[in-house]
Amino acid sequence: MSEQTDVIIIGGGMAGAGAAFEISRGRKVVLLERESHCGYHTTGRSAASFTENYGNGVIRRVVLASRAFLTEPPTGFSDYPLLSKRGMITVARADQLDLLREDLEAAQTLVPSIVAMTPAEAIARVPVLRQDYLAGAYIEPHSMDIDVNGLHQGFLRGARAHGARVVTKAGVRGIGRQGGQWRVETEAGTFLAPLIVNAAGAWGDEIAMMAGVRPVGLQPKRRTAFNIPAPAGLDITDWPLVNDVGAEFYFKPDAGQLFVSPADATPSAPMDAFAEDIDVAIGAERLERATTIEVQRVSRSWAGLRTFVADGSPVVGPDDEFADFVWLVGQGGYGIKTSPALSRVCASLIAGGGLPDDVARQGVSLAELTPHRLRGAGSQSRQAAS
Ligand SMILES: Cc1cc2nc3c(=O)[nH]c(=O)nc-3n(C[C@H](O)[C@H](O)[C@H](O)COP(=O)(O)OP(=O)(O)OC[C@H]3O[C@@H](n4cnc5c(N)ncnc54)[C@H](O)[C@@H]3O)c2cc1C
Repeated sequence: MSEQTDVIIIGGGMAGAGAAFEISRGRKVVLLERESHCGYHTTGRSAASFTENYGNGVIRRVVLASRAFLTEPPTGFSDYPLLSKRGMITVARADQLDLLREDLEAAQTLVPSIVAMTPAEAIARVPVLRQDYLAGAYIEPHSMDIDVNGLHQGFLRGARAHGARVVTKAGVRGIGRQGGQWRVETEAGTFLAPLIVNAAGAWGDEIAMMAGVRPVGLQPKRRTAFNIPAPAGLDITDWPLVNDVGAEFYFKPDAGQLFVSPADATPSAPMDAFAEDIDVAIGAERLERATTIEVQRVSRSWAGLRTFVADGSPVVGPDDEFADFVWLVGQGGYGIKTSPALSRVCASLIAGGGLPDDVARQGVSLAELTPHRLRGAGSQSRQAAS
């Protein structure tokens, strides 16, 4: 027995959940997730940060196009606000001041609320920062925390309310053709649909190869994070996220503890990533160099895969050879905060439209997102043989 649907989405992380929410408004959707719960991989391991000043230009414009949804989600989407105030301070040592100046100038063109601050002002906000470390800083006051679980569950709940079916423990093992449609074999049965959305994160190229579609060159990169107890005697609740301008570390309050990352980006195969002791030690050493904190105990450590293509921008849209195979991958370290806009772009392209107006107004172009940009000239759309 096989189940017939309009669209099969592979992957139940933030990308697949967002796509299911948007596409199921007009089509019958089945979302297939290999694990026993959606969000087990990268989606459940992020820093939960919404900053408009991180990632390449395409990412930043897509983030701007996502802000309205996150600030004011549809009625009934979530019981609590999805964004909460955090702020982000970018810090520099004396040898990083040129970089800080360049970074600040570029940041202000897109996010005018970003302003320089003196080391003393930064230390007043985050008193553990070392005077003898800090030479310059700037602040993005409107950077926020995202309720990742609230957003992810809101997408899944909304998709189900639109009639979508979310099937867990449904690892895709084979993809073929039957009667002009895709035939997807999983641990939970066989599914048929005229259209596949590939939202399999680090496994996106593996899914493509199963379907006989050329990979786009996804490279998963491991990023480590860990929690340490809050420094004794300090109320850290309102500290902003502190980010090193040279991408050597960042830290922020996280449910009463500190979240710390060495901002590593180690190439990895697609896998259930875990934190290596050496990366936790590097993170602790960088934190101790920049602050007065002494890391005595790590209460939890983990890692996730941030998955990129060569130009660092997401890949959204129909494959150039197989128009019925739609990519939604390559969100890198930005897949939570970009999910509202990218989900809508994906749904709009499937419906035969272009970019949603508000996304285009932010200066995003289809050419920057399409998988075509990653192929040489000369590839053409064709329908696979049955
Ligand atoms: C430490 C860290 C910090 C981060 N911080 C931020 C941040 O502050 N802000 C932000 O916006 N982003 C952040 N990110 C990035 C963000 O988490 C990712 O971009 C996002 O979660 C990617 O979502 P996804 O759905 O593409 O991938 P995933 O969540 O990995 O989902 C892919 C799903 O596909 C499923 N799958 C794979 N193969 C199959 C198969 N054969 N059959 C069925 N299912 C399959 C997997 O099981 C998985 O559930 C961070 C990432 C890390 C690791």
